[in-house]
Amino acid sequence: MTITPELVPASASFAPATIIEVSHVTKTFVSPDGSPLPVLDDISLDLREGEIVALLGRSGSGKSTLLRCIAGLIAPTSGEVSYRGSPLNGANPGVAMVFQSFALLPWLTVRQNVEIGLEALGVEPAERRQRAERAIDTIGLDGFESAYPKELSGGMRQRVGFARALVVEPDALLMDEPFSALDVLTAQNLRAELLRLWREKDFPTKAMLIVTHNIEEAVILADRIFVLGANPGRIRTEISCTFPQPRHRHDESFQALVDQIYTLMTGPDNRAPAHIWAAKSSADATATDTPLPEASVGGMSGLLEILLARGGDEDLPKLAHELTFEVDDLLPLVDAAQLLGLAEARDADLHITDEGRTYVAANILESKPIFAALARERAPLIRAICNALETTEDGTLGEGFFLDLLRRGFSEDEARAQLHVAIDWGRYGELFDFDVNTGQFSLERHDQPEPSDTGG
Ligand code: ADP
Ligand code: MG
Repeated sequence: MTITPELVPASASFAPATIIEVSHVTKTFVSPDGSPLPVLDDISLDLREGEIVALLGRSGSGKSTLLRCIAGLIAPTSGEVSYRGSPLNGANPGVAMVFQSFALLPWLTVRQNVEIGLEALGVEPAERRQRAERAIDTIGLDGFESAYPKELSGGMRQRVGFARALVVEPDALLMDEPFSALDVLTAQNLRAELLRLWREKDFPTKAMLIVTHNIEEAVILADRIFVLGANPGRIRTEISCTFPQPRHRHDESFQALVDQIYTLMTGPDNRAPAHIWAAKSSADATATDTPLPEASVGGMSGLLEILLARGGDEDLPKLAHELTFEVDDLLPLVDAAQLLGLAEARDADLHITDEGRTYVAANILESKPIFAALARERAPLIRAICNALETTEDGTLGEGFFLDLLRRGFSEDEARAQLHVAIDWGRYGELFDFDVNTGQFSLERHDQPEPSDTGG
């Protein structure tokens, strides 16, 4: 049976119009050694009138790259972004952006910073001024028109960022972690105010797309949440968030959703490095397919200590909240503990393992060899560095050797970040040392105590 064509327009009129459609977008950069670096993999999503959509993912999952594709600032490698049904060919005419870093021009006043967007559109000076004043009013900056950015607090500067985006009355507002440079209370305040404006009839924008790494922020703001995975960035799941505004973080349904997303983000991902931890067979893992989490040994050990002090078992959102950690800060510590087998995350809870208990209970002298053995066994980059150093005659190698290895799977910055973590872990475990002046890695030789060690 087919639906008669007459019925289609009637039902279609209830569906909110699509503003932006992202269809099978991939983006691949080229790594410094010329090999491809896939950053976005087959992303499809849409943004419709009347909704707030969040793109939630950890740092490096390609959120900013995706937002730049949507804004038309960069072109996808394949796939397409459309605005109101027309494929983009350059900057997206229907959007304005708010950035984490405010991006204000320091030599211009608040009003001039807000007017910039209108200048680019060729709006007459008188109208520019009028519209800028209205936007400044709306966003709560009344009285600060002539102030310079350096005279403003972070929260006020970001208000300028919002005013500058809203003054052009964009069809859709794109935000790249707009609250993450602000302190917790200022961020909460500005978020609530944005929601209040959004609900008002004359808000100039029909939809908002926010990039964030903060789970609670996504659940507070969004009608739909796309959870992104990394390496390469892709959509892991889409979650619809239907409970009414204003939302309260202590409500049961709110907490349940936050827990569900924590579980997802700390759990195994069928295509990300996490599957290797789940399989517990790390023998085949390599330094490029199993990145070291960006966590210091001190940070990870601290987390384990807190966990043990709480009986060895704690709810991750609760831990994050009480430590005033954001997910990007906490999850690398969780990942490190999981990679080494010292803790396990299950259903948004973190459990310490028997090995974890032994590690935390040990004194510093005992804990170092435990850490060293686990790192060598389960952290592929640590194993690769130790193995390579052992094959050389004098037990030393330049960092260039390892950077070349890492550039096959990482961008330059990430490759350096990986080495940075490896140096911290290697030093702590006394597996190897690194000399910043010469850029040389060297094996720690436990069989030849240094003269200064004799004092005991
Ligand atoms: P997020 O915003 O989620 O932190 P990004 O989109 O900034 O992620 O980056 C995703 C990945 O793409 C990172 O690994 C980053 O190093 C890489 N990347 C981003 N821009 C470029 C570029 N211009 N050239 C090479 N790699 C890039
Ligand atoms: Mg980003």
